[in-house]
Amino acid sequence: MTLMHALTMTKERGLIIPIPQVEPRTAIPLQNLRIPGPTPVPPAMLAELARPVINHRGPEFAAILRRVTARLQFVFQTNAPMLTFPASGTGGQECTLVNLFSPGEHVVAITIGHFGNRFAQIAERYGLQVTRIAFPWGEAADPAIVETRLHKLAPYRGVLLTHNETSTGVTNDLQTLSVLIRRQNPDALIVVDAVSSLGCIPLEMDAWEIDVAFTASQKGLLCSPGLMMLAAGPRAWEAKAQARLPRFYFDWARARAPLERGQHPVTPPVSLFYALDLALEMMLAEGLEAIFTRHRHLGEYVRKHVRAIGLHLLADPVSASNTVTAVRVPEGIDAKALLNTLRERDQVVLAGGQEHLSGKIFRIGHMGSCEVRDLFTALNCLQVRLKEFGFAAGTHREERLAQW
Ligand code: PLP
Repeated sequence: MTLMHALTMTKERGLIIPIPQVEPRTAIPLQNLRIPGPTPVPPAMLAELARPVINHRGPEFAAILRRVTARLQFVFQTNAPMLTFPASGTGGQECTLVNLFSPGEHVVAITIGHFGNRFAQIAERYGLQVTRIAFPWGEAADPAIVETRLHKLAPYRGVLLTHNETSTGVTNDLQTLSVLIRRQNPDALIVVDAVSSLGCIPLEMDAWEIDVAFTASQKGLLCSPGLMMLAAGPRAWEAKAQARLPRFYFDWARARAPLERGQHPVTPPVSLFYALDLALEMMLAEGLEAIFTRHRHLGEYVRKHVRAIGLHLLADPVSASNTVTAVRVPEGIDAKALLNTLRERDQVVLAGGQEHLSGKIFRIGHMGSCEVRDLFTALNCLQVRLKEFGFAAGTHREERLAQW
């Protein structure tokens, strides 16, 4: 067969893939990114991302990995081994489940929203028997109800918890919950999704006897999306030795062995490690307590001014999150149109609601690299656009920025 003949036949069978005609790349204007992740990456970290890539098996990367691991242990407040995986927060959920449990095992999922439900769903997909202790969206888990429910349950191996529920802007009282779980079941594995809390809201893994906690780089850690970090304590490693769910990429043992030589089990996103390295240095320079205080202030600032505009919060202020605020959309306002206008006209980017809260709430992110001035501008624009949309918005400007 001649080449021409072969080409003709390939064409006739429709096997030639044409060069794609795609929309041209365009410049994206600088945005006031106020979604609950990914969060804005400070310029110093962006510069790190632009540095030349190095050998991930060389001494320079080993030094980065040693620094990052030790500093993450401090941020998680743990002595447990710290593992990093190229993955997102969902990867953290899956990674935890496959290392800890065996098919058919009974686990409890305390869920207060979309991400708690996702954790439970992944567990079900892997064939675990899941009992949900669910609370209405917008509320935190009530410790008394959790304790009563746990008391009545058939034996269970672990409890899955979300520290901060990003879909509703609610923070669980993790310390109280972990103490009561331990009281009810001293052997239970306490597993915490800290994706939108770690590095912003206090979490003391060892002191609170948490067995596994994980987070992702794009939320409170000032870094771009793509890295998942997980700490597993001694009880979790014992459980891992017995756990029979299949795993390879996310196997903790595969990740831990090369770590001692300053290496990663797969080719790691070197550039993200540069940024994380600097991010952790900056976080420690600011100080964990100072970061927690800054987020408390940011949370209070948003809640106060959202109310001053005349809007209503989804969460009870007692359990309202200091990293993300969910705001009820006023009657008659098209949430999608409002958020589009803010993005297109003001470059202020807010997030919508998820699942049944779609169109009913919008969410303002204030975690990681965030200052009051970013929120001041975003809230000003929100107020102006709401008025244009026919809402009798109050004014939040009366509150002087200098007070914060
Ligand atoms: N858990 C929580 C609490 C989250 O907020 C998110 C994402 O926002 C996830 C899990 C899932 O993370 P990802 O979207 O990075 O996979």
